[in-house]
Amino acid sequence: MAKSKNISDFVIERDQNRCIKCHACVRVCANDVHFKDDATSEVASDDSKCVGCHFCEDLCPTGALVIRKNPSETRENAHWKKEYIYRIVRQAETGGIVLTGMGCDRPYKNYFDHILLNAAQVTNPSIDPLREPMELKTFIGRKIDAVNLDDLNWKTTSIDEIMSGLLELEVPIMFSAMSFGSISLNACKAIAEAAKLCGTYWNTGEGGLHQSLYPYADRAIVQIASGRFGVSSEYLSRAAAVEIKIGQGAKPGIGGHLPGEKVSQEISLTRMIPQGSDAISPAPHHDIYSIEDLRQLIFAIKETVDYKKPVGVKIAAVHNVAPIASGIVRAGADFITIDGVRGGTGAAPVVIRDNVGIPIEIAIAVVDQRLRDEGIRNQISIVAAGGFRTSSDIIKAITLGADAVYIGTSALIALGCHVCQKCYTGKCNWGIATQDPYLTRRLNPEIGTKRLCNLLRAWSLEMKEMLGGMGINAIESLRGNREQLRGIDLSEIELKILGIKHAGESW
Ligand code: SF4
Ligand code: SF4
Repeated sequence: MAKSKNISDFVIERDQNRCIKCHACVRVCANDVHFKDDATSEVASDDSKCVGCHFCEDLCPTGALVIRKNPSETRENAHWKKEYIYRIVRQAETGGIVLTGMGCDRPYKNYFDHILLNAAQVTNPSIDPLREPMELKTFIGRKIDAVNLDDLNWKTTSIDEIMSGLLELEVPIMFSAMSFGSISLNACKAIAEAAKLCGTYWNTGEGGLHQSLYPYADRAIVQIASGRFGVSSEYLSRAAAVEIKIGQGAKPGIGGHLPGEKVSQEISLTRMIPQGSDAISPAPHHDIYSIEDLRQLIFAIKETVDYKKPVGVKIAAVHNVAPIASGIVRAGADFITIDGVRGGTGAAPVVIRDNVGIPIEIAIAVVDQRLRDEGIRNQISIVAAGGFRTSSDIIKAITLGADAVYIGTSALIALGCHVCQKCYTGKCNWGIATQDPYLTRRLNPEIGTKRLCNLLRAWSLEMKEMLGGMGINAIESLRGNREQLRGIDLSEIELKILGIKHAGESW
């Protein structure tokens, strides 16, 4: 009978001629993959424990290690893929739900890869971003419908007053909700500091605001999720904005669970729960069963923050996303966060992550169009999330109708993540998705901050190049400007839903 202990996703190749038996790999691997073989005195490995995080490969001083995907040919066929066979074997042994981390890795069509951008030629000249000012500044929150110039008192009314209560972003990129608990405090610090330095915002997730992160609170969007962890009037008043989390792209419709063994003293203080107790986020908010209920919570929060901070609502991108978004606008939210099917997570059942929700590209297009059709688009900002890989994905998302995006997985990759998808084990060798003090020390927050700022800077430069190429000098002018997009290899219904023309069609 097949046993999962014989199943290795990876094979470890060790060049014994290069190995100097320093045992670094033996010491560092949180999964105990490497060991000293007492019989031969050689260093050996147990392939079945390897999660493919590549930490040992990067660390090995002599380059003796190579981690490869296991090329072994299981008797798979077009229907019975290796992963399904292995999953059944594991479930037959354990009788449990198979967990995973990060975002959906199924090969669903990626619409960003089927959308092309425009470029100005002859009649509307392009702009050189190296010589002319380009504006990436974006404001998040409910905008006023119109400025009546006659009512303005130019001596006392400044543009700051008109725009007050909005989040001001130097780049249209924020850091996604990642709680202290799902990631280490060092990872939180790197992200929070980067947000502050780069003039953008970070999101606490549902884990509360740790005291050491108070200096970055004015750049924090704090979450209120179904578990209400860490929520107090002080938590709300310190923050720049508040986000009610209804759902997330990686696990729409289900709750979350941080096991008690991960609830350390620091996490218990931040979440306001007893140390060692399970932190369970119920699937629904038990006080929200309608748009009216949601409205009550939104206005309760607005009362608490004196109507001075934007209050948003985060939902997963699901089939009915457009009418739900319309309801959220009418409930009084200032921004809506939509998280697509490729959105990341610390832990989710693989069957939910890979089969529930819709791509963010589709969700942005249908929500933006619905709100425009109803004449309420100006009343809310759309923040898109769910697997942004490059600056071009972000530009396309904004052109489809988003005001700004959240990045999570790409931020973690900048911090060292190798997308091994084992975040739920708490044994992240890169010191990110772990609370183990031995492992968390591997992430230096100062270096992490620098890498994140570099990423935002690089993407900003690329976005300015793309904007200039289109002859547009402000990102605000690109929002929902779908004439700048053309589809390639898309069906008529796909083009219709995305609201774009096919390549080759003129204005
Ligand atoms: S880290 Fe590299 S050189 Fe050191 S024991 Fe492991 S494989 Fe050998
Ligand atoms: S955060 Fe760590 S555990 Fe999670 S995917 Fe990245 S490297 Fe793997």
